[in-house]
Amino acid sequence: MPTQLTETNRVNANENKSPLIQVKDLRKYFSIDHHQLKAVDGLTLDIFPGETVGLVGESGCGKSTAGRTIIRLYEPTDGEVLYNGRNIYSYKQREMAKIRREIQMIFQDPYASLNPRMTVEEIIGEPFAIHRTLSGKKKKERIKELLKLVGLNPDHMSRFPHEFSGGQRQRIGIARALALDPKFIVCDEPISALDVSIQAQVVNLLKELQNKMGLTYLFIAHDLSMVKYISDRILVMYLGKMVELTDSSSLYDDPLHPYTQALLSAVPIPDPEINRERIVLKGDVPSPIAPPSGCVFRTRCPVAMEICSKVEPKWQEVKPGHFTACHLYEI
Ligand code: SF4
Repeated sequence: MPTQLTETNRVNANENKSPLIQVKDLRKYFSIDHHQLKAVDGLTLDIFPGETVGLVGESGCGKSTAGRTIIRLYEPTDGEVLYNGRNIYSYKQREMAKIRREIQMIFQDPYASLNPRMTVEEIIGEPFAIHRTLSGKKKKERIKELLKLVGLNPDHMSRFPHEFSGGQRQRIGIARALALDPKFIVCDEPISALDVSIQAQVVNLLKELQNKMGLTYLFIAHDLSMVKYISDRILVMYLGKMVELTDSSSLYDDPLHPYTQALLSAVPIPDPEINRERIVLKGDVPSPIAPPSGCVFRTRCPVAMEICSKVEPKWQEVKPGHFTACHLYEI
């Protein structure tokens, strides 16, 4: 049986707040050719109002599936997600439609996620039509406001997505996600498809919008380079499992898990005085259909021990607010 996660993962700054989102032992398995693919295997996480939690891992680690299951684009195999204290999986269709206004997603590829045959006005206006909230002149005014909010020219609302650059298209996607005044947004690798020079602009825009609108984000990324600048806390996943969770500074200054250490060693440091040794991981990520026994990272871990193939490491708080699952830290 997988380890039951009972520890709370809140950090001191959040101690007096109630979480907006509580993910409890969430599992999402897919059936493929009579096998089970364990995309998410026991995710437990509180996300507090106004907070950004970064969710990081290589492709295939389950982070996007986790994001989609948390907002119920996928039904879970097991577990709960509480939004304002209520399990969203218990909502009937009509109730869920109301919650959908408050929970939104920004997608990785702004071009693929925007209908090329629709104008910007139609794209951003679609949520108002689906949820029947605004129409006519009021809708048009709100679309203009949203375009200004994301730094686009409202006079361009009759243009089509292909008439914009990649960064501008992502801004259109953000405006669409903001249309219904959401509280919580899953940002699914929103900067991965953009040029490096544009990535910082989009991250800054998301931060600005968070401050203005009090938004809460789950920010999914495949590496640790940009995620530090937006995240209050960062959760690292490997093969469907949580491996480390703490605030951003602790993760960068004192990573505990060997996988996090390897991911961090690949992040360039702008200071030529600091020379960090690159840890190159052996082999590919194993198939989640047949994950390794014991610790799922053991086949690539440079410091694996005998126990690692036999016993799954426990998720535990090694330092205040700093959690990891690794036998090196078990007491
Ligand atoms: Fe490496 Fe063992 Fe820790 Fe897994 S439990 S990360 S294999 S040392």
